[in-house]
Amino acid sequence: MSTHRWELEVKKTDVLVIGGGAAGIYAAVTAREGNPELSVTVLEKAHVSRSGCLAAGINAINAYLNPGETAMSFLDYVKKENHGLVRDDLVLTMAQGLNSATDRLYDWGLPLLKDEAGRYLARGKRSVRANGERIKPIMAQALRASGAQVLNRVNAVNLFVKDGRVRGVFACSTREEKMYLVLAKAVICTTGGAAGIYKPNNPGAARHKMWYCPFNTGAGYAMGLRAGAEMTSFEMRFIALRTKDTISPTGTIAQGVRVPQVNALGEEYLHRYGARTTPERLAATLAENMAGRGPCYLDTARLDKEASSMLKDAYLNMSPSILLKWADEEAEPHDKPVEICGSEPYIVGGHGMAGFWVDAGRRTTLPGLYAAGDVAGGAPKKYVTGSMAEGELAALAALADLGEDLAPLSEREAREALEAEAEAVLLPLGQDSGFTPKALQKRLQKVMDEYAGGISTGYRVAEPSLMQARQKLRQLAEDVALLQAKNPRDLTAAHETADRVLIARVVVEHLLHRRESRWPCYQERLDYPERDDEKWLKFVNSRYDNAGDTVVVMERPYEGGAFDDSSD
Ligand SMILES: Cc1cc2nc3c(=O)[nH]c(=O)nc-3n(C[C@H](O)[C@H](O)[C@H](O)COP(=O)(O)OP(=O)(O)OC[C@H]3O[C@@H](n4cnc5c(N)ncnc54)[C@H](O)[C@@H]3O)c2cc1C
Repeated sequence: MSTHRWELEVKKTDVLVIGGGAAGIYAAVTAREGNPELSVTVLEKAHVSRSGCLAAGINAINAYLNPGETAMSFLDYVKKENHGLVRDDLVLTMAQGLNSATDRLYDWGLPLLKDEAGRYLARGKRSVRANGERIKPIMAQALRASGAQVLNRVNAVNLFVKDGRVRGVFACSTREEKMYLVLAKAVICTTGGAAGIYKPNNPGAARHKMWYCPFNTGAGYAMGLRAGAEMTSFEMRFIALRTKDTISPTGTIAQGVRVPQVNALGEEYLHRYGARTTPERLAATLAENMAGRGPCYLDTARLDKEASSMLKDAYLNMSPSILLKWADEEAEPHDKPVEICGSEPYIVGGHGMAGFWVDAGRRTTLPGLYAAGDVAGGAPKKYVTGSMAEGELAALAALADLGEDLAPLSEREAREALEAEAEAVLLPLGQDSGFTPKALQKRLQKVMDEYAGGISTGYRVAEPSLMQARQKLRQLAEDVALLQAKNPRDLTAAHETADRVLIARVVVEHLLHRRESRWPCYQERLDYPERDDEKWLKFVNSRYDNAGDTVVVMERPYEGGAFDDSSD
């Protein structure tokens, strides 16, 4: 396909939000409410009514301060779960916004159950039950009501940086032959984390049946890296413990109807390993498998019929595939235990803490650019409400900074910038030979699986194999220049693949740099098997040097307070 048919359009807005998920929608609504005079535009790769992690709905608000919990106690919990290392300032400011974000969802129409006292029905200490299958349409409705403009099915590909400041984004329609430069006074990046870096559990046609949203492909990380932003903690990958094959959430069983994890002999095993945190529970499961006592299960056979039926209701909300499996086996949840397994690793700042290095206002290191939700680093355990809280913080900081003097950009300058960028962005369309995005993606996932701690190696890494990964990724990075596309859809896939290769390179450099084992499964070095607080209670950060095509790794001190590692 020739690229000359592509229409090029420059658009202008005051505040641009890239990604219309939990963080993006709340950022846009906050910006509109903060200053209704401002134009706010949300640019979304899919459709805001059913995009991102929330597409399938939720069945709990996973981050909420129930009576007795405070922002401080939330910070203690997150710090313990993350083995001592988080950005205290970010977790605290996020925790302070959890309950108001929940109230907002309730006011918008999310059905949250309440007790006689009018309090949300708790699921755990820090979570509340939700009938959340319609959460995304409800949020999209609130976005529309705010008066924000929405550009659906437009994929952001590169930040527009001028005179050291982010001034907008280059983006392509995923359906039409159309490319945009959207100019803005402030840009808030909320594109979520990155799936598809590692080979998934389910191959072939079922490859999209994974834990994380398969269409969140790390564009925000990659755009930030190419523009020189500082990133943090890419070595802290997130691996979810899921039900086998259907990849449904295990929390729905473990917390929802409270049954234990057991091995193939029916023995409860978490206590053997002193496993309390999320990665420790995963590591214990892996250890049981390695000891020949796997596979492991959630023992739903202990449920009575009423709890069994409750469990099915809960899964109907967001993961009907497990119901289909039970139906196929002509079984009920209480007939037999549910097998569990670890997912492939993801790069996701809302569960792990990989992402943009930001300040408390969620300002990135690039002037004019803010980051919130799964794409922002340093503050794990955000979930839907924490991502919203961060979106709010980013929007408030962006509004406060808007007064900064910006040299206006002429129509001609903008048009020239767009034309120059189109040459590079549309390049795969003119390529007659080379690699399809799918082929390159497969190679990437194989390299990461085998040499950088994927499922096949029990998530563990060591220097020799990481060096292999580094070398193979260099070759892949060269092959990115040979990506081919025939239409707008392929072009989106080509950019997604290029982004993932860059992210993988950063992950490998981070894994090489942290010479200790801090987070079981998430980051475990066979050659440095101990946790070493003396040397490594600090952040591993990086930025990408475009000119030299290298990832520059640096360390940042941990500036939080001490915490009690033993309390619950
Ligand atoms: C399977 C699953 C179940 C979950 N269940 C719960 C739950 O029950 N309770 C809970 O509290 N939390 C839950 N979470 C966590 C919660 O959904 C996320 O933490 C939260 O949605 C993250 O918000 P976000 O805005 O950062 O990302 P998202 O909500 O995923 O939004 C990112 C948006 O960016 C868009 N985008 C991506 N790339 C581009 C691009 N290049 N250009 C334009 N747009 C782009 C995406 O399409 C998407 O709309 C769950 C997460 C997952 C993966």
